[in-house]
Amino acid sequence: MSERHLMLYPELLAPFDTHAIMRDGQRLDHAEGASKPLRSRPESQPRGAKVHGSRPVDQAEAAARFLAAPEHEKMHDERLWDLRQKRDREMHGIAEWEELRSLASAIKEHTLTHLDQYLEQFEANARSNGIHVHWARDAAEHNHIVHGILSDHGAKSLIKSKSMLTEECGFRAYMASVGIEVIETDLGERIQQLDNEDPSHVVVPAVHKLRTDVAEVFAKTIGTDPANSDVHYLAEAQREATRPLILAADAGMTGCNFAVAETGTVVVCTNEGNADLSANVPKLHIASIGIEKIIPRLEHLAVFVRLLSRSALGSPVTQYTSHFRGPREGGEMHVVLVDNGRSERLGMEEFWTSLKCIRCGACMNTCPVYRRSGGLSYGATYSGPIGLIIDPTFNQRKYSNLPFASTLNGSCTNVCPVKINIHEQIYAWRRVLAERHEVAFAKKAEMKAAGELLSRPAAYRAAIAAADMALAHLPRWVIYNGLNAWGRHREVPHPPKQTFHSWHHANRGGKQ
Ligand code: SF4
Repeated sequence: MSERHLMLYPELLAPFDTHAIMRDGQRLDHAEGASKPLRSRPESQPRGAKVHGSRPVDQAEAAARFLAAPEHEKMHDERLWDLRQKRDREMHGIAEWEELRSLASAIKEHTLTHLDQYLEQFEANARSNGIHVHWARDAAEHNHIVHGILSDHGAKSLIKSKSMLTEECGFRAYMASVGIEVIETDLGERIQQLDNEDPSHVVVPAVHKLRTDVAEVFAKTIGTDPANSDVHYLAEAQREATRPLILAADAGMTGCNFAVAETGTVVVCTNEGNADLSANVPKLHIASIGIEKIIPRLEHLAVFVRLLSRSALGSPVTQYTSHFRGPREGGEMHVVLVDNGRSERLGMEEFWTSLKCIRCGACMNTCPVYRRSGGLSYGATYSGPIGLIIDPTFNQRKYSNLPFASTLNGSCTNVCPVKINIHEQIYAWRRVLAERHEVAFAKKAEMKAAGELLSRPAAYRAAIAAADMALAHLPRWVIYNGLNAWGRHREVPHPPKQTFHSWHHANRGGKQ
């Protein structure tokens, strides 16, 4: 057996080491109920919003479809809330957590306000390490540059680790159009690729799928038993199907979590080690890097590494934090530094700090709207609270509904490891979109009517009294009918016997 095979199949070194998958006599499952038998009629997976062109995405409609699939909605909500709770436990174990957040925020703000200098420093150091450096203004240029590099090497297949930037660039579709096969190496991303869907979460791309959905996808694409949804069986089948493709690939691609200016190093964090395969198995490695990923010094990395995985998955550290400082022996390494709207966002007074984002997904895990509507309902590359800020910077009309998919409860801001004022920026987008006439007429009229009512105390009190009366006396169907979208999933609470205002008037004589 060759050394290369042992590197790729480490379990072969200890074939009888049951501790690798056993704990306390139990098999260690990665998903709850991982080996329970398949239900006779699994619930179908609800599909997300897919909109071509600039027509506004109807997030509420796609969310309603997700809510109408109760098993999916319950599983999604519970899985993400579990991540949020794990994150909280990790946070409470670090006394200096708030100082780390402040430090991370300050490092990012300093870097973003000196971005030109640090990008040039990164470029110079990467070049002196033997890396080829390219600059891409937008998605099309990124795809064109990567295609050019692959063509120069006669590459026909590319293995790739997860990268939200390449999703932004529509990279897989572009590669398909020029006849180059792309194989995702992250398991969740590979599931999404085989199902012809975008990732629904920045860290866990297939989190909206039940294991029965995965069984169905694999049965159709790699020929597994459709009646077997055991996660070990499915993961192993995918591994068997993908490994030969990895070994035979002509080129490898990674994203980048942090690009260190002082060393010219590309740092990639994964839990599956798939970035290491993508970078090290083929001789050609290409890394796509959003220009906001720069950090000045290696010592700054420690701050972000401590925050990233704890915020994302509630685990102390990612399994692999790999530093790529130059091409592998006998190989070639390229980095593509991509702008794609980032410089423009940097100039937006109210939204530039969204560039601090390290894509941990914590704001998504905590958001009540995201947890119950699924990431694909947003119909955009980025979903959840951070998506509501980033997506309109790409296309204001298309994503004009998204900033309204939030309760503005501020939980996203509280968990953000780099202290982005997320809910305030979402609120700011609502104002900007209204000013630019990108808000639907009906929504605008409703908001105007609500504004009028709330600014007239007497009219407001009369409306509340009328609503209380209606709730107490009208037949149920008058209130809960097809026209009342709000009441479809909620019960209006019983009206109190007395409003606070009348109590205050009676007991305090109306004085403040
Ligand atoms: S906005 Fe903050 S919490 Fe949300 S993904 Fe980015 S870094 Fe994480």
